[in-house]
Amino acid sequence: MSRFTGKVALVTGGGSGIGRATALAFAREGATVVVAGRQAEPLDQAVTLIEAEGGRASAVPADVSSSEDVARLVATTVERHGGLHIAFNNAGVLAPGPLADLDEAAWDHQLAVNLTGVFLCMRHEIAHMRANGGGVIVNTASNIGAHLRIPYLGAYAATKAAVSALTRAAAREYIGEGIRINAISPGPVETSMSLRPGEAEADRAERLKDALPIGRAGTLAEAAAAVLWLASPEAGFTVGHDLVIDGGASA
Ligand code: NAD
Repeated sequence: MSRFTGKVALVTGGGSGIGRATALAFAREGATVVVAGRQAEPLDQAVTLIEAEGGRASAVPADVSSSEDVARLVATTVERHGGLHIAFNNAGVLAPGPLADLDEAAWDHQLAVNLTGVFLCMRHEIAHMRANGGGVIVNTASNIGAHLRIPYLGAYAATKAAVSALTRAAAREYIGEGIRINAISPGPVETSMSLRPGEAEADRAERLKDALPIGRAGTLAEAAAAVLWLASPEAGFTVGHDLVIDGGASA
C-alpha cells in the first residue's frame, strides 16, 4: 500500500523519536521526506535509515523558532523536491519544574519552540500550499495541554494547549483553500521525552503500569500511524481535530 506516492512530506523534529518514526513511515508509503531539526547529524542518520529501506529523503537543519530558518526550510523543500504536500510540525521541547521556580529562559524556550515554531511553520507552509493547490498539515500538541493537567508541567502544557487552539483556528481559516489541518495529542510515547530526569526505560514501564489505564507507553508505530491517517485521503472529512492517543489517560 502506498498512500503517499508522489507526495512531499516535511517533518520537523525528524531526527529522533516520533518525528523520525513518522518520517520513516511516510517514506515506506511512498512519500519523499524532508527531515528538519536543529542538528545535522541525527537528521543525516534518519536520511540514511530511510534510504537503506529504499525510500527518498533529505535533511535540512533548521531551528523552528527562527522565521528565517523556517522560510529557508520550506523554500529548500520545494526547490529540492518540487513541492510540499504534507507537513508534520512536530518539533518540541519540555522543561519540567514548579512554575514559581521555572526560570524565564525555560519558559521562553518552550514557548518559542512549541508554539511560535508551529505558528512559523504553518505560516510558511500555508503560503506555499494555498498557491499550489492545497495540502495537509498535522501539528503535535500533547494530552498534557488541552486534555489533561499534570503538576510541574504547566509551561509545557500551556504551549501545547495553545497548539491545539491554533490548530482549530487555522483549520477553519484554510479548509476553504484546500488545506486540511489537524493535530495529534499523544500521551507518554516511548521516547526520551517521556522519561523523568534520570529515569531508566524499565522504571518508566513500571510507573506507567499504574499511571495509565492501558498500563504502558505508546509505541512509535502507534504515534506514526495516527499522523499518517490524519495526513491521508481517508481522513479527508477530518478538519481541526485534535486526535488524542494516550492509552485512556484523559478519557
Ligand atoms: P524528541 O525529543 O525525540 O523529539 C523532539 C525533536 O524536536 C528532536 O528531534 C529535537 O531535536 C527537535 N527540536 C527541538 N527543538 C527544536 C528546534 N528549535 N528546532 C527544530 N527542531 C527542534 O521527543 P518526541 O517524544 O519524539 O517529541 C516529539 C513531539 O511529541 C514533541 O513536540 C513533544 O512535545 C511531543 N510529545 C511527546 C510525547 C512523549 O511522551 N514522547 C507526548 C506528547 C507529546
